[in-house]
Order: sequence, then structure tokens, then C-alpha cells
Amino acid sequence: MSQLKEAVDKSSGLIKEFREFIARGNVVDLAVAVVMGTAFNAIINSIVNDLVNPLLGIIIGGIDFTSLALTVGSASFTYGNLISAVIHFILISLVIFLLIKVINKISRKKEEAPPDTQACPYCTSDIPKAAVRCPNCTTILDEDKVPENLR
Ligand SMILES: [Zn+2]
Repeated sequence: MSQLKEAVDKSSGLIKEFREFIARGNVVDLAVAVVMGTAFNAIINSIVNDLVNPLLGIIIGGIDFTSLALTVGSASFTYGNLISAVIHFILISLVIFLLIKVINKISRKKEEAPPDTQACPYCTSDIPKAAVRCPNCTTILDEDKVPENLR
């Protein structure tokens, strides 16, 4: 009986551990990343196959690398496939790099709001642009705007 109880305890511990593993945020994040990656892959493939490959075909004169092979005895080294895979990899990397560059540019534009603070010329602390007197070192920044009795 004690063996059965031990086995039940062990499995319930395992179930609890499994539930905690699933409930962890990074599992869900990972699942979303995989699904997004799969969807994104279709876009990348389309860019490479429909836009970049025809362009490359014009540049290199429509050479099909996949037909290249070296035959030694009965062995066939289809190194053309390797060249094709390397070109594909470079192209996909380039396309992703350009896409990320564009995405970064868009997201950076949103972040770059003009700062409404300036550095005090005397104590270099950040103070509002409209300040006429530094709140930190009490230096008068604009003589005309500070009343006579407060100077
Ligand atoms: Zn100051």
C-alpha cells in the first residue's frame, strides 16, 4: 500500500510541476514566437522567391546552381545544392536585416520626442526648458524674468 501511495504522490508532484511549467510566461511567449515565425517565414519566402530570385537571375544570367555536380567514381557530389543553400541563407539574412532596420526606424521615430528639459549651464542637472532659475543650484538663468525681490 505504501508503494502505491508513494507512486501517487510522485505523479501528483509531476503533474503539479508540469502545470507550473506550462503556466510560466516564457512557454506561452515561445509558442507565440514559433507561430509568428512560421507566419513570418511565408513572407520571407515570398520576398526571396518572388522578388529577389528573379532579380538574381537577371544579374547572374539565370544560372541554375542546383544542377552543378562533381562525379567521382560512383559518388556524386552535388555541391550546387550547397551553393544554392548558401546564397539563400545570405539573401534571407539580408532581407531580415533590411526588414529589422525598417522596423527599428519606425519604432525609434515614436520614441524620439523632443526633450522638455535642458542641462543647467552651472550645475549640469536636468531642469525644465522654461525654467528661469535653476531649482538645484538657484542660479538665475534669465535676469529679466526673475522678480527684483527674488534675486
Ligand atoms: Zn543649476
